This record gives sequence, C-alpha cells and structure tokens, in this order.
Amino acid sequence: MTHIAVLGSTNMDLVAYVEQAPRRGETVTGREFRTVPGGKGANQAIAAARAGATVSMIGAVGDDAFGTKLRSALQDSGVDTGRLRTVAGPSGTAHIVVDDGGGNAIVVVPGANGTVDRLAPADDAVIASADVLLLQLEIPLTAVVAGARAARAHGIRTVLTPAPARPLPPELLAAVDLLVPNEHEAADLTGLTDPREAAGALLAQVPEVVVTLGSAGCLHVARNTEPQTLTAPRVTAVDSTGAGDTFVGALAVALGEHRPMREALTWAAAAAALSVQRAGASASMPYRSEIEALCT
Ligand code: ADP
Repeated sequence: MTHIAVLGSTNMDLVAYVEQAPRRGETVTGREFRTVPGGKGANQAIAAARAGATVSMIGAVGDDAFGTKLRSALQDSGVDTGRLRTVAGPSGTAHIVVDDGGGNAIVVVPGANGTVDRLAPADDAVIASADVLLLQLEIPLTAVVAGARAARAHGIRTVLTPAPARPLPPELLAAVDLLVPNEHEAADLTGLTDPREAAGALLAQVPEVVVTLGSAGCLHVARNTEPQTLTAPRVTAVDSTGAGDTFVGALAVALGEHRPMREALTWAAAAAALSVQRAGASASMPYRSEIEALCT
C-alpha cells in the first residue's frame, strides 16, 4: 500500500454563523456554532487516507479536549497518529465568523502547531519509509524546511501546498519536487495574476507546479514539457472548503501509486469534485470507492 507522510497542522475550527459580522467594539448574536476538526495538514492526511493510502501524521495537538477530538478524528479516517505529539497547552484553533453573504473572517491561533519547529529522529524514520511527503505552511518554517530536506535525503517525493501564502526561502524550494498553489497563492508568490505566467515563473524555482483553479480545474507545468490544463468535473458546489486539501491528498496517493501525472490529476479532480458537493471540509472527503466510481 502507498504510504503518505504528512508534516503539518491540526486545528479545531470554531465556526460562528451570523447575519452580519461584528464591527470593532460591537457584539452580535450568532445563529449557530460548530466545532469542526481541520488544519491543512490534518485535512490532507484524511483525504489521502480515505483515498486509499497508509497515512502517518507528524505534528502536535494540545493536552486539551480539542486535542483528544482532533486525534480521534484522524484515527476515525484511518490515519496513524503515532507521531502526532500531545504537548502542554492549547491545540491549534481557527476562529471563524461566517456571515449570511457567505463572507468570512478568520483568526488562526497556532497553539500546539507552533511547537512543531524541528524533526525528531522518529519523524525522520517515518518520512524515510514514505512514498510521498505532504507539506503546507501552518507550522514553523524551520520544520517545513527540515521535513523537505529529510525527504530529499531519503529520495522521497515532496509536495508543498504554499498556504497560507508567504515568501518561501530558497532552501525550502530547493527541496520541493511539486508545488501546488491555488491561483491566489500563485499570484501572491509571484506577483503575477495570470496563472500560466505565475506557474511559468515558479518553474524557475521548482521542477513541477500544479495551480488549482477552483471550478475551472487545474494547470500543470513541468520543465521541458508543454503546459496542460485539466477541466474539473461539472458539479453543483455546496461547500468548497477543503477542496484544495482533498485534491492534494488524493493526488499524493495517485503519485505514490506511480500513476502518470495526467491520470493522477484526473483522479485528484474527481476526489475534489465529490467533496465540494457535500458540506464540511474533512467530513466531505470521499473514500476510494467513490473516487474510482467517478473515474471509470
Ligand atoms: P483551494 O480550496 O485551495 O482554494 P481550489 O478552489 O482551486 O483550491 O480547488 C481545488 C480543486 O478542487 C480544483 O482544482 C478543482 O479540481 C476542485 N474544485 C474546486 N471547486 C470546484 C467546483 N466548484 N466544481 C468542481 N471542482 C471544484
């Protein structure tokens, strides 16, 4: 079975639904409140596990009630949490206000994620035994760089989701095999709003880039090959939260199974299209049989 290692964040999303978000100094009454397990690392881990891989999550949760819930949410989807440390203090949280216009305002407090600043020898061993390492930017950059370097040293393919967007140090890019920004992140990284131009500019730093384009699909570029665009399946989207994480998790599984890039992208797009038709981020992520049914 393909083995995916994920080095990244786990957050509890605390979501308040209101008619209108409060202004500074104002108090408003919300309509509904939900706690939803999230964090880009954990979401990608769940997506990959449901898509059929053995998945190891490397990271940290706090010793609070959220930490217990975050760990069980990962385990419920079959993710190995042996390298998910429990540390003193709060788990990572995302405080989200969603208004009736569909807009949102988010405060992320890293909590335990902020303690993931280096790799333990046992983390290195997990990465060494994986087929693909998935990285994002919701833990300290020192650990992301250490993870990418460890993967490179062991000959493991690294896939980086550059979110939340921030300048990337050259030593990180030097150890990344595939960069998967959405179109906004691609623009933030390059200053170029046209995804083709942005992807082309990123190729100077990494050998292969996939820019996700929401309902328009994705764009794949690699050195010495023609850029290719893949359309996404036409579906009625209910909630696109976590679409990018579903896409990357499923893509990693297909690449770990040594499928050609075009086939892997089609499989990832199918997984993401299934997820946007259902509410929730990790809750909406499809299982392998569902993805296969859509791809045949
Ligand atoms: P993110 O969630 O990171 O912002 P995108 O919005 O680009 O990323 O979505 C990631 C992928 O999810 C897309 O490349 C596409 O395959 C799929 N996707 C997103 N929105 C839709 C949609 N409305 N219909 C079909 N597929 C979608």
